Amino acid sequence: MLSEFSLISRYFTCAPSAGSGVDLGVGDDCALLAPAPGMQLAISSDMLVEGRHFFPGADAKLLGHKSLAVNLSDLAAMGAKPVGFTLALALPTLDESWLAGYSAGLFALAEEHGCQLIGGDTTKGPLTLCITVFGHVPPGLALRRDQAREGDDIWISGTLGEARLALAGYRKECNLSDADLAAAGLRMHAPTPRIPLGLALRGIAHAAIDISDGLVGDLGHILQRSGVGATVNVDAVPAGPVLRTQASAIRRNYVMAGGDDYELCFTAPPAARAEVHAAAQRAACEVTRIGAIEDVPGLRLTDHSGMPLSLQLQSFDHFSTP
Ligand code: ADP
Ligand code: MG
Repeated sequence: MLSEFSLISRYFTCAPSAGSGVDLGVGDDCALLAPAPGMQLAISSDMLVEGRHFFPGADAKLLGHKSLAVNLSDLAAMGAKPVGFTLALALPTLDESWLAGYSAGLFALAEEHGCQLIGGDTTKGPLTLCITVFGHVPPGLALRRDQAREGDDIWISGTLGEARLALAGYRKECNLSDADLAAAGLRMHAPTPRIPLGLALRGIAHAAIDISDGLVGDLGHILQRSGVGATVNVDAVPAGPVLRTQASAIRRNYVMAGGDDYELCFTAPPAARAEVHAAAQRAACEVTRIGAIEDVPGLRLTDHSGMPLSLQLQSFDHFSTP
């Protein structure tokens, strides 16, 4: 039977790579990071709990990917470059095939983004995956939520709504073919953290947030923190290809309030449109302009012709959503 320490060394240890900013990784009382000169440290934690954030029995490798992806998404939304992360794990049993899968999914994404596992904690308990990520950003260039200004365009990356569509499919709330459910399911299980876009938007975007709880709620955070309002053209918000085949009421609902998208919503002045497109091209990521920041507080929604829309939408909230 594997001990706690052989488990850590077998599945969660990697050698610090030279020049990565990590002087000492897993294995001592603390990791040692060498702060890059003149950089601010960006830090964020996200926790995934079985039965709350993922279904019991979910694929371990996809969980390895997703648990790090949701954290990297926060660095992306700040314009920060990933450096390292810690992993606090509660495991109900010592299941080696689960550990091998989880660790493979985790390290594949970590390597893709040059983000090293530098420490953590391991305990027995209901399956819980808690990651804290560390990144660098030059002072003054972080993409904060409180920097949107009147007249800014509102942009989003990629497409929205298909993670929510997959959830509806799994719950049998809508009818999807196996192929469509598999495609939408990938958006739910394997989100792509928009790190290259976040980095490319430094010095161009004013404000940014990653969409984890739904566009309406997350854009609402930018509006509130920046003391502004906005109008969004709901029909301009791009839905993923499977969601595009659904009825417009479902499409509108899921793109605006679906959640679990992990795309970026950001604002930038209209004079920077060409720069935004160039940044998106450098990051190999589609971006779409969906509305504008205004000085009148509140969020106004319209259809493609500019007619006001009133949608019954609710963003995800762990303590108010059943
Ligand atoms: P301590 O008792 O000082 O908290 P631990 O015995 O919990 O140390 O952990 C030993 C070493 O293994 C530490 O360097 C810790 O950061 C690391 N570690 C523990 N669990 C994990 C994990 N799940 N992933 C990565 N590193 C871990
Ligand atoms: Mg410990």
